[in-house]
Amino acid sequence: MSKVKYYYDKESLSYRKIERKKRTTFKYATLFMLAAAFFAFIFVFIASQYVESPKERALKRELQNAQLQFELLNKKMEQAEAVLANIADRDNNIYRVYFEANPIPEEQRRAGFGGINRYKNLEGFDNSKLIIESNKRLDILQKQIVVQSKSLDEIAILAKEKESLLAAIPAIQPVSNEDLTRMASGYGMRSDPFTKVRKMHWGMDFTAPRGTPIYASGDGVVERADSNSSGYGKHIRINHGYGYTSLYAHLYKYNVRKNQKVKRGDLIGFVGSTGRSEAPHLHYEIFKDGDRINPINFYYGSLTAEEFNKLLEHASLENQSLD
Ligand SMILES: [Zn+2]
Repeated sequence: MSKVKYYYDKESLSYRKIERKKRTTFKYATLFMLAAAFFAFIFVFIASQYVESPKERALKRELQNAQLQFELLNKKMEQAEAVLANIADRDNNIYRVYFEANPIPEEQRRAGFGGINRYKNLEGFDNSKLIIESNKRLDILQKQIVVQSKSLDEIAILAKEKESLLAAIPAIQPVSNEDLTRMASGYGMRSDPFTKVRKMHWGMDFTAPRGTPIYASGDGVVERADSNSSGYGKHIRINHGYGYTSLYAHLYKYNVRKNQKVKRGDLIGFVGSTGRSEAPHLHYEIFKDGDRINPINFYYGSLTAEEFNKLLEHASLENQSLD
């Protein structure tokens, strides 16, 4: 309990209790404090509009850094796009041309994504545009890589096929003919050695002593090795696939059996004069899809241009065939 104070009142000549001004003091104090708090609040509020807090500064730095990184990523994407464009260009203009595949249309390579907006969840932010553009770019890049990868898979298959096609097609001379003088008669109209009548000679004749080795001119499977075809005597037919067959006639001896797989250059038989033949020689034919074609066009790769011309000269002479 606080003390009760009195004062002497001259007018009434009596002691009177001093009324405490506690309430008034408290009121003023409270008012002052409220005012101070209010102004402090206003000050801080206004100041915060112009002055950044350390935390804000840190966040701002981080955001700037993120933006910078995004821009750098875009630059890198630009480089990746350029590299991919170069690969696509080579793919279309070299590889696909070489392997006889149609180029992939630009629209297909550059196709974006239609339909629903894939980037809706990225909208509504300050950096939305930058982020959406980057995402779009990366998505397209990804899609282009898939298209390119598929194209190269296709090329790889075509290359393998071409390789086996090239190995299969008859492409070497079936007997050793280094000075090319063994080429006795070519494909075309020739005088028949027996009747002397001018008629079509469907192959090439290579003269050689009896027993000279005969080689498979391409990879394939021996379809026949018998003498049951009139005129050819002992003969071999090799099926090379892709519509190609080669035929070797008037053999002295076989070195392969029916259904045997052979590689280009394998020894398949020996020169003889069986069947309708005037002297020991190899009669050689090439069939494409059942039709006989001129074997002269099949020695690419094994002859130089000069040798080829010499062979062509020999083969073009309209002489008498050996049949
Ligand atoms: Zn012939």
